[in-house]
Amino acid sequence: MKRVLCRRLGAALSCCTRFHAQLVRHESTGLPIIHHSGYVCELPTNHRFPMAKFPRVLHFLLQDQVITDRQVWVPEIASKDLLSGVHTEEYLSNFINGKIDEREQRRTGFPWSEGIVRRCRYETGGTVLAAEVALQRGLACSTAGGTHHAFPGYGSGFCLLNDLAVAAKYTLSNSSTRRKVLIVDLDVHQGDGTAFIFKEEPSVFTFSVHCGKNFPLRKQQSDLDISVEDGLEDKEYLSTVEQHLPWLLESFRPDLVLYDAGVDPHWEDELGRLRLTDEGLYQRDLYVMKTVVSKGVPVATVIGGGYSRDIDKLALRHSIVHRAATQVWRECGM
Ligand SMILES: [Zn+2]
Repeated sequence: MKRVLCRRLGAALSCCTRFHAQLVRHESTGLPIIHHSGYVCELPTNHRFPMAKFPRVLHFLLQDQVITDRQVWVPEIASKDLLSGVHTEEYLSNFINGKIDEREQRRTGFPWSEGIVRRCRYETGGTVLAAEVALQRGLACSTAGGTHHAFPGYGSGFCLLNDLAVAAKYTLSNSSTRRKVLIVDLDVHQGDGTAFIFKEEPSVFTFSVHCGKNFPLRKQQSDLDISVEDGLEDKEYLSTVEQHLPWLLESFRPDLVLYDAGVDPHWEDELGRLRLTDEGLYQRDLYVMKTVVSKGVPVATVIGGGYSRDIDKLALRHSIVHRAATQVWRECGM
């Protein structure tokens, strides 16, 4: 089984022609974890967004000896050039230079600051690096990312740059062969920005499982939308994912999967409306990554949404995907 898997992965990975210089230098053999201390910035006191969660995710992974610091890869800040693959020149210029008016700031949920621009650019660089490393090693996980509500010309719902879209575009453009990317978005909210960005792009397939009554009120059309009812529990949720992922992989045959492992379907989440448990999230993440990897397709993961005032509880919940990925890495002999 292991040998078959390795051969499949080898075939899938050989299409990757150009690597980031850093990839060659990194000698770690464990599951690649992508993290930057610049994933965070200051927010006003009592701001609703749990910004402090990002470094705590890495903290718990190290403290619980899920990973060692040798597994940590540090991304570069996303350049304006890279971002312009998805975002309009006008929006990027306004966003970077602080020309975002009150109304636009309200829609994003964040007051503009130089710090927030920097953090979003590091986060996007992290997702791009995760995609790049996944193409080389089969699996890579960032400790941030999943800002799927950002559109080409504006930010929305705590999302200012669409990291998933930037990474997908980068993956398509940075290859001499024609590639296809499948975005599996299991955040409780619809990936409306990503769906909009790729609605005319046949090389990217957007798959979103979300709570129909949740934000955004006005949904976009993904390539496959599965809208679920409030209060869905582990078993029904998992069987929903199981019904679709295998045939999607068979028919679309992606070269890379970008997996948004949002934890906001959790029963305790402040903004979710579903009833998944920690164990349910673990089984979901394990299922997605095992299913994709066993087809010989590389996976890059981002943490997606998760909302709680208890930062440590939330960070532990976000670390579920890295723990499940560690199991996949070990069991699949990667
Ligand atoms: Zn969400």
